[in-house]
Amino acid sequence: MIEEPMSKPTKPASTRHKSSTEAVHSGRDPSASYGFVNPPVYRGSTVVFPTLDALTARDQPYTYGRRGTPTVSALQEAICKLEGGDATFLTASGLQAVTTSLLAFVEAGDHVLITDSVYQPTRHFCDTVLARLGVTTTYYDPCIGSDLAALITPQTRVVFTESPGSQTFEVQDIPAISEIARTHNLWHVTDNTWASPLYFDALAHGADVSIQAATKYIVGHADAMLGAITTNTRAKPQVLRMHGALGVCPGSEETYLGLRGLRTLPLRLERHFRSALEIASWLEARPEIERVLHPGLPNDPGHAIWKRDFTGASGLFSAVLTPAPREAVAAFVDSLEFFGMGYSWGGYESLILPFDPRSYRTATKWEYDGQALRFHIGLEDVDDLKTDLEAGFARFNAARQS
Ligand SMILES: *Cc1c(COP(=O)(O)O)cnc(C)c1O
Repeated sequence: MIEEPMSKPTKPASTRHKSSTEAVHSGRDPSASYGFVNPPVYRGSTVVFPTLDALTARDQPYTYGRRGTPTVSALQEAICKLEGGDATFLTASGLQAVTTSLLAFVEAGDHVLITDSVYQPTRHFCDTVLARLGVTTTYYDPCIGSDLAALITPQTRVVFTESPGSQTFEVQDIPAISEIARTHNLWHVTDNTWASPLYFDALAHGADVSIQAATKYIVGHADAMLGAITTNTRAKPQVLRMHGALGVCPGSEETYLGLRGLRTLPLRLERHFRSALEIASWLEARPEIERVLHPGLPNDPGHAIWKRDFTGASGLFSAVLTPAPREAVAAFVDSLEFFGMGYSWGGYESLILPFDPRSYRTATKWEYDGQALRFHIGLEDVDDLKTDLEAGFARFNAARQS
């Protein structure tokens, strides 16, 4: 009997299946690894060439560890499929994906437009490194829509969006901003970490570059740092050049953890989506909560755009407590059983993080006096999470009255 051939015909590059299918099948070829389902972790710096001709031609698929390995290619291919891009470049962190993308498009004398709701380390990079290189930044109201056109100068090169902002959750009108960027011949770079490629099709909505802090949902288990930059055809050459010039490369193990996380991303996100929305609307009804910031809630100011452009919401949102002394806030957050307090998110576990937008906002005003809290709703049982928060509110109320 003839055995089944291990290799199957390669799919044409243009085919893009439903995202859960791509998450399972993209970026792996069992026939290239003796039938094993997953690609191996290639660790390596030197790649040897068989002849002088081969060395001079440099036309082997791999030439040096920093420039990629089969493990890196596998994850790049899978993310690229999910984002619907032309090319994906991996980085050692999400922040490095942001900084590499910005550097790819600017030179001294240029100007960039950055949303005021941007991830704080992105803001820090603009205010320090870009400023030192002679690139100026204007922060704009995330809800500005097409009025963004008024802020464009002859020096403007890049419009940077992050929708929704990962602390304050304003939803941006990405199609309107993309239209303006196209008209003025600017590059539109978007940080798409919150929605992941599954819930927002950033490039199809007009962005040139979509960034993932893969550290979050793609890795999904809080055990690795990783970033990804996906470009359309127009942006690819510039990102390729900067990525190479800066010597950006992800770690081998981290890349593998990204691949491993990606396989279950659709399933995990669905649960994060459902649980977070349930807890967000439950919090809305609590007397201790002044406001919940979650675009999936019908009365959220960003709800209409979110519903129009996104296919889901992740597990991250914020809420503002009613004004109370610091001791009451501490009584709430310090003794939660299931909510860890810490930076980052996107893992399987629930997290809580107090923050204060007044400390960094420049283009918009934060109008709440109560303590703002960011929640990441993990994969735990929702009722257990509610019980935990309920006990926290009881401590909060007791401390407030004493
Ligand atoms: C966490 C985060 C980043 C940075 O990712 P790191 O891997 O921590 O460097 C960038 N953008 C957003 C929206 C993030 O939440």
